[in-house]
Amino acid sequence: MTLQIPFDNSYGRLPERFYVRQAAVPVRAPGLIKVNRALAAELGIDAEALESPAGLAVLAGNRVPEGADPLAQAYAGHQFGGWNPQLGDGRAILLGEVVDRAGRRRDIQLKGAGRTAFSRMGDGRAWVGPVIREYLVSEAMHAMGVPTTRALAAVTTGETILREQGPLPGAVLTRVASSHIRVGTFQYFAARGDLEAVEMLADHVRKRHYPGAESALELLEAVVAAQARLIADWMGLGFIHGVMNTDNCHVGGETIDYGPCAFMDTYQAEKVFSSIDHGGRYAYDAQPGIAAWNLAQFATCLLPLIDEDRDRSVALATEAVHRFPPLYEAAFLAKFRAKMGLSTEEEDDWSLALDLMQAMEDGRADFTNAYRALSAGKAQDWFTDRAPFEAWRPRYEARLARQGGADRALMDRTNPAVVPRNHQVEAAIAAAASGDLAPFERLLAVVTDPFAEPPAGFELPPAEGEEVFRTFCGT
Ligand code: AMP
Ligand code: MG
Repeated sequence: MTLQIPFDNSYGRLPERFYVRQAAVPVRAPGLIKVNRALAAELGIDAEALESPAGLAVLAGNRVPEGADPLAQAYAGHQFGGWNPQLGDGRAILLGEVVDRAGRRRDIQLKGAGRTAFSRMGDGRAWVGPVIREYLVSEAMHAMGVPTTRALAAVTTGETILREQGPLPGAVLTRVASSHIRVGTFQYFAARGDLEAVEMLADHVRKRHYPGAESALELLEAVVAAQARLIADWMGLGFIHGVMNTDNCHVGGETIDYGPCAFMDTYQAEKVFSSIDHGGRYAYDAQPGIAAWNLAQFATCLLPLIDEDRDRSVALATEAVHRFPPLYEAAFLAKFRAKMGLSTEEEDDWSLALDLMQAMEDGRADFTNAYRALSAGKAQDWFTDRAPFEAWRPRYEARLARQGGADRALMDRTNPAVVPRNHQVEAAIAAAASGDLAPFERLLAVVTDPFAEPPAGFELPPAEGEEVFRTFCGT
């Protein structure tokens, strides 16, 4: 089977100032880590051909496949609140786009593909660690129903790269996304006063992501709604993204950039993992507020397109961004009702949900397992101190009695039995780095079937000494 990728590249039809056209930098000796066969099929690509030497050469960036239009995208962004006028794909090359079997346009991008015009001081590479992490976590997120970029493949490069930890094996991830357009892509042009480009980008995004949106204002409203749903999904899983810079805020509402991300073990509202997030800017409970802040930056870029009258434009954009809190709260409430097995609605459900979370924090409960065990009446088993849970419980039981019992099926398809916990991801990475892919394969199989009962042990929080307290940016 020869490798054929049915490319149809719309981004490359935008003007030259949107990107720098260039191919990936070849690597010494490509080796296969994994091809995602199901995703390949969705994209209309033959998985066996991807696994062949010719496919491997494409996935490593050694060969440009027919029909590709490789380029590095330009973007800017606020990183930890500080403005950076030029970021861009410093270690990624967009090969092109395909329209998948369901008619959805998807980007195919090589991450870790070598230096580009946007690399600044970086080497343009990735090591096996962040590639394995992104593969595991993005595929788990997808399996849990969260909008996300996907992993089509991972390969090693046969080259050694240098990081703080020392020399490490290089790797390339093939990332699939509904696009790679970020709030920071809009900011790049808005900051240059390039209104024509902002308008072209807005049109491109409307057609691509929100065909029902007929104006810049409707585009803004659609992105606000998509982000509200996305953040509620994260909160429902105890997921901490860790680096919610505007360049990592996807306008299509997908989770993008799995750098220092983590799922919480023991619940703590203000939990932070990232080694560089000193102020807790991207802490668990800060995420909704940060999303709104990012959306305000997006709205600012769109102002000239919303109305000719500046004041009116500001008023309309402000109103659209102010829709975030109620939309987010509605999505959060729906999610946590489902987690608690509530299929009816009562006024007090919001405080019932928040009080459980407070009890979990006070009782040092394991986030994933406490929710999962709720349907079997065993949540208390995952509390270090059960008293706060027992104090909350009678109200919950009375609430359940009023609706005729918990909707257990709803709970068990909302509360995953497993998430890729940090210590498990780290163990899979350590093994992969020394050439053993079996732990990665095992963990991948479990976390991509997250609502089934896992093989014994996979649901366990880290034992003493196994905990991961800090995560690092995926460079
Ligand atoms: P991230 O932290 O992944 O969101 O990346 C932020 C910016 O740094 C983006 O412009 C990346 O392309 C760039 N970057 C990150 N790592 C590297 C690297 N190893 N080489 C070149 N650029 C990089
Ligand atoms: Mg990024």
